[in-house]
Amino acid sequence: MEIVGLVAAAGRGHRAGGAIPKQYADLGGRAVLYHAASALARHPRIAAVRVVIHPDDRALYDRATRGLDLLDPVPGGATRQDSVRLGLESLEPLAPARVLIHDGARPFLDAAVTTRICAALDEVPAALAAVPLTDTLKRAEDDRVAATLPRENLWRAQTPQGFHFAALLAAHGALAGADRTDDAALAEQAGLPVRLVAGDPRNVKITTAEDLALARRMLASSMETRVGQGFDVHRLGPGDHVMLCGLRLAHERGLIGHSDADVALHALTDAVLGALGAGDIGEHFPPNDARWRGAPSHLFLRHAAELVRAAGGMILHADVTVICERPKLAPHKPAMRARLAEILALTPDRVSVKATTSEGLGFTGREEGIAAQAVATVALPARDVAPDIALGEPPR
Ligand code: MG
Repeated sequence: MEIVGLVAAAGRGHRAGGAIPKQYADLGGRAVLYHAASALARHPRIAAVRVVIHPDDRALYDRATRGLDLLDPVPGGATRQDSVRLGLESLEPLAPARVLIHDGARPFLDAAVTTRICAALDEVPAALAAVPLTDTLKRAEDDRVAATLPRENLWRAQTPQGFHFAALLAAHGALAGADRTDDAALAEQAGLPVRLVAGDPRNVKITTAEDLALARRMLASSMETRVGQGFDVHRLGPGDHVMLCGLRLAHERGLIGHSDADVALHALTDAVLGALGAGDIGEHFPPNDARWRGAPSHLFLRHAAELVRAAGGMILHADVTVICERPKLAPHKPAMRARLAEILALTPDRVSVKATTSEGLGFTGREEGIAAQAVATVALPARDVAPDIALGEPPR
């Protein structure tokens, strides 16, 4: 592997308040760690990402990273430095050429910063993201200013910090116990040249409750909310079951379709695609394509959800209404909801499944087919309205 990511998330920091470590705190419906790890994992130059966690946090980790494709986590040590060393040793079998270390409590990593670190590693063995100090520095004695310090050439170190893998592993081995708070300091001490690359003032580390509150406001102001809707119908024909919301329900007839004809998942897939402005399910999965014959429809919905993630967005809520006389859905609604939540990697409170009849009227009333409607609410990174629309000529 060329470049791997290692996320340091074994800290116990409770300074942000609350019962759980700050990297697992909620930030816009996902854990802080989810944002931090997914920012690395979806970067095109990062081949794989592993998170170092506290041994007690496995359940929190599993919940926080649902829907992400990460290497299995490894337990960390007593200090951040120990944790990173253990993470590096666990990556040795993958023989990566380079590694990027990132804090699990930095949720706002922009892809451009990662790109700059990766590019610097083509020229130097170590590089870190940093921002220049803008505040004037005071040295205090109790509450009295003892001196004003020059801030020229002073930078605030951020992560990611990138390294040639073997060089960083050797530095960690040689300097175990030095208790440095970042890896660039170890690299310096080991004599490696370390390059500063431009970080991002938004790439903050969440340490206190105030940081978390500010991060929530930053996230809210950086995202826009979009709503997509979908509708689908499938005909009933011979069969012994129907698929609805990914659940197989026994019935004396079946739904006819090229795939498994899960009308509810098709409607919801179209709703998610609609929120993205990404066409419809037929464009992504043509019904004349033999690959999708009999396909389980959760593949279509997962694909749409993956497009949301790739765009740096999140599905906030999904609401599905199934319209049929039979089978009676009331007893199955909790399981349908749970299955939808599982497919979308959302908590069940962000998913709704409703069922209604059409009072015997129309094709659904005559039990010729089953219909479904869906709405998906999606948060996407806010973009400026295209200038030609915003500034266009008014209609005459
Ligand atoms: Mg369909």
